[in-house]
Amino acid sequence: MMAQEHHPSPTGHAAIPTEPIGSIPRPPHLIERVAQVRQVGQVPQGDSDDPALAPAYEEAIRDTIERFEAAGSPVVTDGEQKKYDCFATYAVHGLPNTAPDGFAIAFSDGHTRRLARLTRGPFRYRRYADGFLDVAMRYAHVPVKQAVISPSALSLMYPADGIAGYSRDQFIDDLLREHETEIRRCLNKGAHKVQVDFTEGRLAVKLDPSGHLLNSFIDLNNLALSQFSPEDRRRIGVHTCPGNDFRASHSADVDYAELLPSLFELKAGNFYIALAGEPDRRHVLRIIRKYRKPDQRIFVGVIAPGDPRIETAEDVRDRVMEASEFLPIDHLGTTDDCGFSPFFDNTSTSRDTAFAKIQARVRGTALAANLLGAQP
Ligand SMILES: [Zn+2]
Repeated sequence: MMAQEHHPSPTGHAAIPTEPIGSIPRPPHLIERVAQVRQVGQVPQGDSDDPALAPAYEEAIRDTIERFEAAGSPVVTDGEQKKYDCFATYAVHGLPNTAPDGFAIAFSDGHTRRLARLTRGPFRYRRYADGFLDVAMRYAHVPVKQAVISPSALSLMYPADGIAGYSRDQFIDDLLREHETEIRRCLNKGAHKVQVDFTEGRLAVKLDPSGHLLNSFIDLNNLALSQFSPEDRRRIGVHTCPGNDFRASHSADVDYAELLPSLFELKAGNFYIALAGEPDRRHVLRIIRKYRKPDQRIFVGVIAPGDPRIETAEDVRDRVMEASEFLPIDHLGTTDDCGFSPFFDNTSTSRDTAFAKIQARVRGTALAANLLGAQP
């Protein structure tokens, strides 16, 4: 289905759009099947290209979209069921020119997740996310959005001591071309939105409080975004969050005041900002109000995926009403703070809980839209 415009309501206000971030916990039987295949040593290790696993992946996607639609979600994703082994590595998993000992992301509970390290050039994606979109759009009756990983995250694959015969500049050229190709393929296939996952933005401030690393990430991502027309950018978004894995984060202690002024320099029309889990939402909303560009729509996080408590529709309504004090309704949207399972093997949240929270987001956004005179 092609992207749909939001129609003004009889009262003149545009609707308040609501969208998921992307990931839904994989069904336990899919995780078990992938683990079995890995145990017997078959290649390519249970990833989404493994023909033996195709029926299990297909069933997971079908069920995910059915449950999204049952929850009333006006925009759905495939739940990132085929993103193996996570939101950041799906495009490069299984590349022969990588080693497993790459950049490590440290989480607040002490566990780490590692990226692969590039061992030689040239750098190419192994798969583009529009392949996931193809499958999802076969099942969906409503618009489908697609998340892709940022170039700045994948730039961490290039080793600090360089690669003989393949300079960092060559790598960056290849990386930006692959990323731009991926976004264009998703847009051309009719993705409702293409969301660039930029969780490493807030992490960059933690790693380098001077802001230099963050600004280098912003510049890099803008090299790609500047290739798109203003019309394309209205369908391109950026997601920021403090990381979400096993109820832990990697950069929640970084004040949004250090991130958001730079974030809004990104040439994108939509921003998906984790907010529900913040200790002082009004502080964050004040910063957003101050630095948001006039044409940027802000999807505020109204659901905390890592919180085992299921929010009520009234909780969500109140959070939207709060955000509406700081942002014009026609540039406001709602989302979840993050995906519910950005990493493949994470079952700390059940599918039932994830969809109950999504239903609360949809209903609560509609309640607030009613109060604000916008069409739900
Ligand atoms: Zn996130």
